[in-house]
Amino acid sequence: MTTEQTRLTLNNGLEIPALGFGVFQTPPDDTIAAVTTAIADGYRLIDTAASYGNEREVGEAIRRSGVDRAELFVETKLWISDYGADKAQVGFDASLRRLGVDYVDVYLLHQPTPADFDDTIAAYQVAEKMVEAGKARAIGVSNFSPDHLTRLLEKVDVVPAINQVELHPYFTNATVQHAHATLGIVTQAWSPIGGIHRYRPADAPGSGNVLENPTITDLADKYGKSPAQVVLRWHLDQGRSALPKSVNPSRIAENIDVFDFALEPAELAAIDALDTGLRGGPDPEQLNTRTFPFAVDNS
Ligand code: NDP
Repeated sequence: MTTEQTRLTLNNGLEIPALGFGVFQTPPDDTIAAVTTAIADGYRLIDTAASYGNEREVGEAIRRSGVDRAELFVETKLWISDYGADKAQVGFDASLRRLGVDYVDVYLLHQPTPADFDDTIAAYQVAEKMVEAGKARAIGVSNFSPDHLTRLLEKVDVVPAINQVELHPYFTNATVQHAHATLGIVTQAWSPIGGIHRYRPADAPGSGNVLENPTITDLADKYGKSPAQVVLRWHLDQGRSALPKSVNPSRIAENIDVFDFALEPAELAAIDALDTGLRGGPDPEQLNTRTFPFAVDNS
């Protein structure tokens, strides 16, 4: 396994590994094993969230890994049930406590709540204070549209370092990527290998399994790599961060074995052309505590 991993420099100077490890839907009982395997295989960025219910296990795996905390990048997210100034502080402290860390490397607002945007802004301002306090090294957002970014930037001081958004060959989110390029925000891809189309109901919008698309499988044949590796390479070659999730040891290893090849510009364009313009996940414009009443338990 190569150790020459691509790194990205955030707008505050922090360098992070471009490829991270996701644990959404990884049951707590499987999380320690998955994260331990990932760290042993060379992953250094772990993406979790208060709403995933596995921050404790991510923290435990980090402690057990034997890898210096300073070499690991812990990324977590504040859920919308904790937006607003007071609740955000409670939510942030609870994440640190569950993870068992003194600081997180990247702290994100999980979703915009466009109908209650003052609460979103207040939560982000708490995150800004966490940077000043040395408890977060970088902050950002997730699932923000260009319009949400504009509305946020009118009211806050720190430009988000990252916006983590749905992004895979069937939903390339080009408008958001363009806004990021203008604003100096790193694009971080969730469902980077199109997982959302495999675990969402078959009648959800979108176009099936990206890993079976002939454009992808032909490139996999050409390079002697797997379809997932081709798609991850597409992200890296276009300067994005990507967070593949797996609980399967061989797929965890496969997904980080992507630093020994690169795609040609025409091949990157051919994958871009698979975009359907249809997201698999929820529309961020509609998300708020009434449409999505799940609340994180911070007790
Ligand atoms: P992914 O694109 O990472 O796909 C994960 C799915 O693909 C799982 O079913 C996994 O199964 C399978 N898989 C993993 N590796 C391979 C492989 N090499 N070949 C074939 N199948 C594979 O989608 P996710 O939606 O899980 O997103 C990844 C991460 O992004 C999450 O864990 C989370 O960190 C983040 N995320 C953030 C969201 C947000 O709103 N901010 C929303 C959704 C995700 P198996 O585990 O069995 O290998």
